[in-house]
Amino acid sequence: MSGPAGPGLDEVFAHVDANRQGFVERLAGWVRVPSVSATGQGMPGAAGHARDLVAAAGLEATIVETAGWPLVLGHRAGPPGAPTVLVYGHYDVQPPDPLDAWTSPPFEPEVRDGRLYGRGGADNKGQHLAQLLAVESLLATRGELPCTVKVLLDGEEEIGSPHLAGMVGVERERLAADLVVWSDGPVDPGGGWRLVFGVRGVASFELRARGANRSLHSGNWGGVVPNPLWTLVHLLATMRDRDGRITVDGFADDVEPLGPAEREALARLPVDVAAVKAELGLAELDAPVERGFAERLAAWPTLTINGLHGGYGGQGTQTVLPSAAVAKCDARLVHAQRAADVYGKLEAHVRRHAPGVELVRQGSMEPSRTPMRSPFTGPIRAGMAAAQGAEPLLVPTLGGSLPVHVFTGVLGLPTFGIPLGNPDQANHAPNENLDLERFHTGIKTAAAVLTKLGSFRPAGSGTMAG
Ligand SMILES: [Zn+2]
Repeated sequence: MSGPAGPGLDEVFAHVDANRQGFVERLAGWVRVPSVSATGQGMPGAAGHARDLVAAAGLEATIVETAGWPLVLGHRAGPPGAPTVLVYGHYDVQPPDPLDAWTSPPFEPEVRDGRLYGRGGADNKGQHLAQLLAVESLLATRGELPCTVKVLLDGEEEIGSPHLAGMVGVERERLAADLVVWSDGPVDPGGGWRLVFGVRGVASFELRARGANRSLHSGNWGGVVPNPLWTLVHLLATMRDRDGRITVDGFADDVEPLGPAEREALARLPVDVAAVKAELGLAELDAPVERGFAERLAAWPTLTINGLHGGYGGQGTQTVLPSAAVAKCDARLVHAQRAADVYGKLEAHVRRHAPGVELVRQGSMEPSRTPMRSPFTGPIRAGMAAAQGAEPLLVPTLGGSLPVHVFTGVLGLPTFGIPLGNPDQANHAPNENLDLERFHTGIKTAAAVLTKLGSFRPAGSGTMAG
């Protein structure tokens, strides 16, 4: 007879419980290995440690060189006919600065109050390690995996994954799968577990305006020499109106509205708007005021001025007429916008409204959306509920960006996010930490999701990808 967790899960859950301490030590060992892609600290040696972890879980592991930091791949075949799951994570971490703001040193992990503190503990070492330990626990209790499992650990996620799309294209055969699962970022701010179907994209750029060839006296030259700060202020005002509409021609042409299942899921997300406003010290949310909170993050693109720079910013006054000005901006994109297309529309807008201003393209990431009606949604939800004790919240699209378009776009695979981190994980900040209860439940979650996917067969299909 099966126990309360469902067929085949009680044993693996018991194994995870029995190995709790050892698994935390494995996590501490991984956090102890610096892997800062931005500065190179600990790289590329960390790829070797990542490969060893993948191998220790029972997968065949390889390091794949790129023009940047290497990728680590893993593979282990499951029973014929079962789906192939590609697990994505990243072994690189953010720089730990400022060091003096850490209570314990970033690469000397310490457990305090049930949390492991250290750079990368949550983002993303604890989260992909939970996936690997699930594989290891399934093999330890059953001797085989319920699905074919492939693993891809990125070494450049924290610097925008510049070589990932190219490598995934080259390694298309080796990465062939039926679906992708990633674990990164936090659970819902209220603490509920969530299943994520998409992310917004981002396109960063700078607008550069020039005036005279040097800064000048605002009395001797004011009214004669044009001011590049005014040029930018006027240009920016033509790009978004007071009602929050982006007024760049064609900007939102490719936005695909959410379907009924997605809209219904958004409506169920628990958000206390009054509490959010109070916490942020805001009287109003951004325009348009009537738009739903979750809908703002999931369904709409944005155009944000990150900074406007030029002229004098010091104490008192300096009556200067600046020679140059820069606006740093980003656009958050939603399915099915494409960064190159949006850049083209922004450039056309700038040519028309301020031909002397230069738009410089910076980093971008495409948006991604997997339809909630995917046949894999059911088994994944069932696995999460079995491990977590409650139905997960369904999030059609996260406000932030991750390089998962590589999987939905380049490989054409449905892609699911199962974040395991606590909302106050302080990723990218000092005192990054992972709640070990979440790590522990995360291992069970990954094992249960693979188990439920393993007993799933899509209607009318023969063999699935190898
Ligand atoms: Zn990160």
